[in-house]
Amino acid sequence: MSDSRDFLQRFLLERAQVRGVLVRLEESWRQVRERADYPAPVRTLLAKSLAASALLTGNLKFEGSLSIQLKSGGPLTLLFAECGHDGRLRGLARWQDEPAAGFQLADGIDPLLAITIENAASGQRYQGLVPVENNDLARLFEQYFERSEQLPTRIVLAADETRCAGLMLQQLPADSGGEVDTDAWTRVGVLLDTISPAELLTLPAEQLLLRLFHEESPRVYPSRPLAFGCRCSRERVAGMLRSLGHAEAEAAVQEDGAAEVTCEFCNTRYRFDRIDLEQIFRGDHGVQTTRTAH
Ligand SMILES: [Zn+2]
Repeated sequence: MSDSRDFLQRFLLERAQVRGVLVRLEESWRQVRERADYPAPVRTLLAKSLAASALLTGNLKFEGSLSIQLKSGGPLTLLFAECGHDGRLRGLARWQDEPAAGFQLADGIDPLLAITIENAASGQRYQGLVPVENNDLARLFEQYFERSEQLPTRIVLAADETRCAGLMLQQLPADSGGEVDTDAWTRVGVLLDTISPAELLTLPAEQLLLRLFHEESPRVYPSRPLAFGCRCSRERVAGMLRSLGHAEAEAAVQEDGAAEVTCEFCNTRYRFDRIDLEQIFRGDHGVQTTRTAH
């Protein structure tokens, strides 16, 4: 067991042929939520999304990252959480008007949940979209697995003032010639439903898994630490300015002729002076030669 308070713990319920992932975040979640003054309902959704982003990397078969993005025309304009295979997490939310206490996920205009997996080696991206038709974030992630991988999945998410956590169960595909034990799947689902948010947020991992699944003799794998970490870099920000185009990038230029860009995830400031900016756009011949002067 790792003694990190931010961890990802995989386990197997062999007899039931069910695999699981348990995630808990404390320090990394503190670092994410302290970067903005989030209203309570937004904070809870961001916490659960961050836990889910780590949970969903639990069974990733390659090196890369997984991001969760909610787009809605409602009070919550953006919700984003991302976790890499290296256990580094980041996230943010944007909102307009103070969302009321009774604010619901599905309040927006055709809200959509996008789950994007990027394979670092091949550069390939896979995206699954789920229409937000209910207000239960965990249920939306279950629907994502039903749609994208036809993989029966159960997810529980919880958040309080200082922690967030998630627990995921997935039915393993039947061995060749074997049959999926649907009774076992129902049985572990019933056990999962007995967990309280407080238990999910506070019990030591092994104790929690034994409390729920002792009759299933859970096999617990070594846990992996999780930590806050941003993927921004000077090169990436320069690339972002380049993709905006020269004219749009000019909007970020200040009186002294330098452009300053602050990363919204980690508040790192990147400053590009006139010479830097010229270099950024010099490689952009195709665009620059067709862009006529004002
Ligand atoms: Zn950053």
